[in-house]
Amino acid sequence: MIASVLPTYNRAPLSFVKGEGSWLIAADGRRFLDLGSGIAVNALGHAHPALVEALTNQAQNLWHVSNLYEIPQQQALADKLVAETFADTVFFTNSGTEACELAVKMARKYFYDKGQPERVEIITFEGSFHGRSSAGIAAAGSEKMVKGFGPILPGFVHLPWGDTEAVAAAIGDTTAAILVEPVQGEGGIRPMPDQDLKALRALCDEHGLLLILDEVQCGVGRTGKLFAHEWAGITPDIMMVAKGIGGGFPLGAVLATENAASGMTAGTHGSTYGGNPLGCAVGCAVMDHVATPEFLAEVNKKAGLLRQKLEGLVASHPEVFEEVRGTGLMLGLKCKAANIDVVQAGYAAEVITVPAADNVIRLLPALTITEADITEAMTRLDAAATAVESA
Ligand SMILES: *Cc1c(COP(=O)(O)O)cnc(C)c1O
Repeated sequence: MIASVLPTYNRAPLSFVKGEGSWLIAADGRRFLDLGSGIAVNALGHAHPALVEALTNQAQNLWHVSNLYEIPQQQALADKLVAETFADTVFFTNSGTEACELAVKMARKYFYDKGQPERVEIITFEGSFHGRSSAGIAAAGSEKMVKGFGPILPGFVHLPWGDTEAVAAAIGDTTAAILVEPVQGEGGIRPMPDQDLKALRALCDEHGLLLILDEVQCGVGRTGKLFAHEWAGITPDIMMVAKGIGGGFPLGAVLATENAASGMTAGTHGSTYGGNPLGCAVGCAVMDHVATPEFLAEVNKKAGLLRQKLEGLVASHPEVFEEVRGTGLMLGLKCKAANIDVVQAGYAAEVITVPAADNVIRLLPALTITEADITEAMTRLDAAATAVESA
């Protein structure tokens, strides 16, 4: 008999009743150190007082009105994002994959309105992840995601990760955009080198294409800049955001330049819940914390410390780990042992990590993780690795 919850997930046999900062507490009282943050979502940790306050204040006043009316919290969050980024305009969604839907529609509408309706193709990369909607799975293109789901949304070209020569060769009369994660998350914590991102930007400029960055996982302070592309000194035309921006409340966004968004006039797109008062009140509180030089300096400091300790961990467990990869607090351990065994040994040692492709485990701690918690994390990861070695 089918489970009452549609069985699309391989769940670990763990459940939690409370979260506090970097800690998750199980019903039996066990305290797990959370290095997964609900897959890079709880950017300020669990139950951050400022987010609790923003959410409860808003909940006591107004939850939902729809986008038929003005929503001051949405306006405020859009203004903050515009002030802090390349973007001139923002559309709010409830998730990353909805942001992908709009990014694709926006790019195609841009060329349609420019009198080039044949420009519909979007170049993407192997190992990418853009969510599970029809456009998201078509963009990623992996057999695992598309097989069995009938005709796939056409208009995506999949190229090897980081092969900028292949990109140059693939650009033609029907190309509209290049879509890329500056740091692949699900694909195994693979940062695109700055020079490659620069090369993609240059190709877009040369051919009049739009550069779409998917910063759903790597954005909102995760890499130590507000957005990951800032490290490369480039800006996109369109950017997808979600996960960390809501700090745990379902919230996503598409940020765009005025030029890239020029086709999206009244009636061309919409969402019932997107940009609702609850999500945007929380999003404003997240931005107020993360988008400050002091906060990002702390992220970089913690990231340096964690990375250094992880290098030590890899060195002392050469049979379990191969290397540390990633950037900021978006780090991966490429495993020699099966990554899932390491994740499960972590559960036994009461430390939570997240598996990714390419036999990697992901460390995506709260951006607010303390130095004491980093030290404790290493003790627990060391215990997990030792258990894997002796298994
Ligand atoms: C998680 C993720 C998505 C999809 O976001 P959902 O909120 O699950 O729809 C898209 N792109 C990237 C890079 C992601 O990590």
